[in-house]
Amino acid sequence: MSKKEYEDLKKKFEFLPRNAWKGLNEGVVNKFSSEYMSFLSKGKTERIVVEETVKLLEKAGYVPIEKADFKNEVKAYKVYRSKTVAVYRIPKKIEKGFNVIASHIDSPRIDLKPRPVYEDTGIALAKTHYYGGIKKYQWFNIPLAMIGVVVKESGESVKINVGNDPKDPVFVISDLLPHLENDPNKKLRDINGEMLNLIIGSKPITFDKIDSSIKLNVLKVLNEKYGIVEEDLTSAELELVPATEPREMGFDRSMIAAYGQDDRICAYTSLKAILDAKSISRPTVVVFFDKEEIGSDGSTGAKNQFWILPIKKVLSARNQDFSLLLEDFIENTAVLSSDVSAAVNPTFKEVHEMNNAALLGHGIVLTKYTGSRGKFGANDADAEFVGKIRRLFNDNKIAWQPGELGKVDIGGGGTVSKYFAEEGMHVIDTGPALLGMHSPYEIVSKADLYHSYLAYKAFIEKFEM
Ligand code: MN
Ligand code: MN
Repeated sequence: MSKKEYEDLKKKFEFLPRNAWKGLNEGVVNKFSSEYMSFLSKGKTERIVVEETVKLLEKAGYVPIEKADFKNEVKAYKVYRSKTVAVYRIPKKIEKGFNVIASHIDSPRIDLKPRPVYEDTGIALAKTHYYGGIKKYQWFNIPLAMIGVVVKESGESVKINVGNDPKDPVFVISDLLPHLENDPNKKLRDINGEMLNLIIGSKPITFDKIDSSIKLNVLKVLNEKYGIVEEDLTSAELELVPATEPREMGFDRSMIAAYGQDDRICAYTSLKAILDAKSISRPTVVVFFDKEEIGSDGSTGAKNQFWILPIKKVLSARNQDFSLLLEDFIENTAVLSSDVSAAVNPTFKEVHEMNNAALLGHGIVLTKYTGSRGKFGANDADAEFVGKIRRLFNDNKIAWQPGELGKVDIGGGGTVSKYFAEEGMHVIDTGPALLGMHSPYEIVSKADLYHSYLAYKAFIEKFEM
């Protein structure tokens, strides 16, 4: 066999995921990236992502679903409890199933406890309870912003957003200095959740020797600024998120480093996809959930499929037999559970099995199953559906790669996919791979970002069951 024959056969029979930069227009990719970075810069909590999403939707002519004319083509959105949103494009006639892209807009972070404020050794601090899977040491000594709402006894909701503007003060969880970390009996101090105490003030309200005068001064500042008292903090959602800006990364500017890309990267790319789609192959829903990082529980998590009810209402307004149609619709609905995967970090290669690991810059990852230790908790998409999605990606020149989250028996994870599967819908996980997932500064390849957008757009414009 000649070398050429060998190379030809190799090309013909072997599968090697391609580099996602090949064929991309860098100007277009950079423009998309910078819009994505400004979205992330503001959208650091689920509530603000919902607000920013609504702004983009209204600009494009979408209306709240409560105001939509169900008899005609519906281009509308439903905000559910301020923390989730579903976007609908429903043509005049619904024949079969829908195309759905689902992602989550909550990210790992640190929340304030219900009674957070205390004073110790001349410093006012706040107790916290972390949210989602974090490596606790990563949250020390970085500037943090506090964003969220405080609901007063009157029912009035006060918005707090401090630290994200460069002129604002920030907050820090301060670590022990290395000089005092030399206890010979211990290698490094174990960090536990009760050590994540946030510094919020250090000035007394009076110089008379009185207890808690620094705490009281902080409460006074809060009252002057927001009209709240300590008890109001019991009915609040205050989140600590990195006060850092998304930045281009590397000499070649090929990457983006930013907080909260898991999973706002899929939210943003799927939102842009539905906004930019020239036509839709089937009725389409793009939905963002909350609470994925803590198991999808809670009314705003994917265990509550809140986005289906408005579709029932559309069907009944059109006098279509919706019990029959709903069954048909569930059976024929195709869902992309759009969530991030782990890109191989060359320094920690040993946790991956390289034949099935996602590489940075090699396109959107198609994950047949998630779960852990023998696929437990996995949706495990059927081969037929995987085949259809693979063909869609190939037909539309999407750079894609199959991927698993780490070596068998080492790790794993879950997504929202199983909550669609248990309804009876076809669903598969797909999204870009990140470095440093769940850290305060996650990294993505711009090429993977752009191919994710292209993949979701192809799904909306062309996918049929
Ligand atoms: Mn995720
Ligand atoms: Mn996550």
